[in-house]
Amino acid sequence: MSTKDYLEKDYYAVLGVPKTATADEIKKAYRKLARQYHPDTNQGDAAKETKFKEVSEAYDILSDGKRRKEYDEARTLFGSGVGGQRPGGGGFPFDFGDLFGGTAGQQGGGAGERLGDLFGGLFNRGGAGGSTRTTSATRPRRGQDVESEVTLSFTEAVEGTTVSLRLTSSAACTACSGTGAKAGTTPRVCPTCEGTGAASRNLGNFAFSEPCRDCKGRGLLVDDPCPVCEGNGRAKSTRTIQARIPAGVADGQRVKLKGKGAPGENGGPAGDLYILTHVKPHHVFGRTGDNLTITVPVTFSEAALGAEIKVPTLKGMPVTLRVPAGTPNGRTFRVRGRGVTRKDGTKGDLLASVEVLVPKTLDDKSRELLNEFNTATAGDDPRADLIQRARSE
Ligand SMILES: [Zn+2]
Ligand SMILES: [Zn+2]
Repeated sequence: MSTKDYLEKDYYAVLGVPKTATADEIKKAYRKLARQYHPDTNQGDAAKETKFKEVSEAYDILSDGKRRKEYDEARTLFGSGVGGQRPGGGGFPFDFGDLFGGTAGQQGGGAGERLGDLFGGLFNRGGAGGSTRTTSATRPRRGQDVESEVTLSFTEAVEGTTVSLRLTSSAACTACSGTGAKAGTTPRVCPTCEGTGAASRNLGNFAFSEPCRDCKGRGLLVDDPCPVCEGNGRAKSTRTIQARIPAGVADGQRVKLKGKGAPGENGGPAGDLYILTHVKPHHVFGRTGDNLTITVPVTFSEAALGAEIKVPTLKGMPVTLRVPAGTPNGRTFRVRGRGVTRKDGTKGDLLASVEVLVPKTLDDKSRELLNEFNTATAGDDPRADLIQRARSE
């Protein structure tokens, strides 16, 4: 019988009795099932033999007051009978099979004690005893992740830029090098937890590990606290760093810069820096993904006759766009490679949409010419088809 069995098997279900069943009810249920599945009366039926073993196992536990109590506790502790609620016992946060593999099948010792060993081992690793004791204060510690925000101009976001960021993070106090002890004094190993920072607490048959109350999990006690950090060994540190924002970031994007967070301690790695980017809009260019967009005004005659027009690009010289004769209002032209730089170094396009302008005022000459144009095109009614189509449903 292993603890894994305890967590995976629903002995009550095997016997078909409620969790509140009395010893008598359990005995009755067992006898009935045992008779039904006994190998003597089911010769050669492997399935029934297996069932008989299950029933016997369940009865072994549930008929023994002490073991039944252990079993109930184990299952309550790990989410009220995982195996019972989810057939097959799946959904453990970690693989109990591996964890319990070493103890399964061992003789002696209740399951509760094994659980205690297990968690003690998990959380007190490198703890109690042993000559190479590390306290939690000297253990390598990864630096904190740091969050920051930056507002970029439209062009900076497209091209990439380097920004100066003032970052505040918690780091080892410089006055005491993180020990928390006043200069010239040293902290002593906490006698309660022997420097592990963890204490075990017994809960019935189970031992749990929690941060030591006397040293608050540090493993060290300070008699003469450092006046700068008041003994906690931590201090707010402000530093200014240069952060490279890659080309092509979008408004609201979070940029991760690995290793640019708070420095690690005792040889631990630095944390990461996350920068939330805000991008200011541009008064001429817009953006859809990797493409830049621009609206280009053209006159009616340019659109009708065709023209070569100059279109600005975000960076660099304007490009010449050939607008063919008969270009309708709103048509979009693609200027390749003048968009946003992608991660792989390639670039998006510039999408230029023409907007046909109507003159607000006309001088005499223009009016005369337009009237002439009107006369010349008198036969073309652009709404003839529309009126026709409007009549038919
Ligand atoms: Zn302690
Ligand atoms: Zn200090």
